[in-house]
Amino acid sequence: MANFDSELQVALNTVRVAAQACRNVQAKITADVLEKKDRSPVTVADYTAQAIVCRALKEAFPEDPVIGEEGAAAIKESENAEFLGKIGDELAIVGINGTADEICEWIDHGGSNEYSNRFWTLDPIDGTKGFLRGEQYAISLALIVEGQIQVGVLCCPNLAIDAGSTTLGCMFYAIKGSGSTLQQLDDPSVEQSISVSATSDTSEARFCESVESGHSAHGQSAKGAELLGITKPPVRLDSQAKYAVVARGEADIYLRLPTRKNYNEKIWDHAGGVIVVEEAGGHITDIHGKQLDFTHGRELTENSGVVVSNGLVHDRVIQVLDELMA
Ligand code: AMP
Ligand code: MG
Repeated sequence: MANFDSELQVALNTVRVAAQACRNVQAKITADVLEKKDRSPVTVADYTAQAIVCRALKEAFPEDPVIGEEGAAAIKESENAEFLGKIGDELAIVGINGTADEICEWIDHGGSNEYSNRFWTLDPIDGTKGFLRGEQYAISLALIVEGQIQVGVLCCPNLAIDAGSTTLGCMFYAIKGSGSTLQQLDDPSVEQSISVSATSDTSEARFCESVESGHSAHGQSAKGAELLGITKPPVRLDSQAKYAVVARGEADIYLRLPTRKNYNEKIWDHAGGVIVVEEAGGHITDIHGKQLDFTHGRELTENSGVVVSNGLVHDRVIQVLDELMA
């Protein structure tokens, strides 16, 4: 069996630096920025995180393509020199120095679009709306080999290390076949293996979904929850933090129900979270019970929506969604 230990170490180290850069930018968001609905902080953080992670992957695994969310084409234009300067400043704060050209090269290293036998996929900031609100966001990185996710790192800088704790910052990681682990973001020596809940009766279940009703159909999920006998209100979280809470048993189900027919889910919105949940004992399919297919480039073109669960309640959830979405 192939050994992916060095891939995991590189991924953990670079995602930790990217998380620090995101925290640095998030700490500077002021009420004034929010009032103006100014998205530039998240854009700076997004590009900075992608530059950090892609630079590390390029150095360690130069042959591996990276399908990342961002491309550098837009920021190369001369009117964006100031913006590129801000990315350079944030990189310097975390100890990375590069010229404008180098920074664009790092970002562009994440610009692959095509499926290949071995590639990484990166969401440098998943849950941008949560990031701006000072709530949940995630950095998600996964290695896919022959269509199978082999390594995943899912960092949630604002997620409490356990429910009720005031210590924030979780790093979830998994290698296929080796279980899922939760490490403290600020103290990697503290870690524990995690597993999904043992809830088998759907009426006892707790489900989570997007904060944004534009990303997942809240009305449909409420109807589904009713059919499943769920009485607890949904937990709404931005980003792949939803995968994290299912992986450690805080929620039993994560529903992502299509809001429109022609939207294809993006692979970077799922790959890191999927392996963390699977290795914690959970199950993931689309709303029809079909396995997610990561062999079509940037999008999950062969799937519709996503259903994540502890495994025990999965068939029942799919059955109800079949009736509901028919
Ligand atoms: P969430 O934080 O779970 O609401 O998801 C954030 C992600 O939703 C972003 O990274 C986008 O890629 C993705 N997204 C954007 N539009 C849609 C849509 N119409 N349906 C599902 N996901 C979307
Ligand atoms: Mg995303």
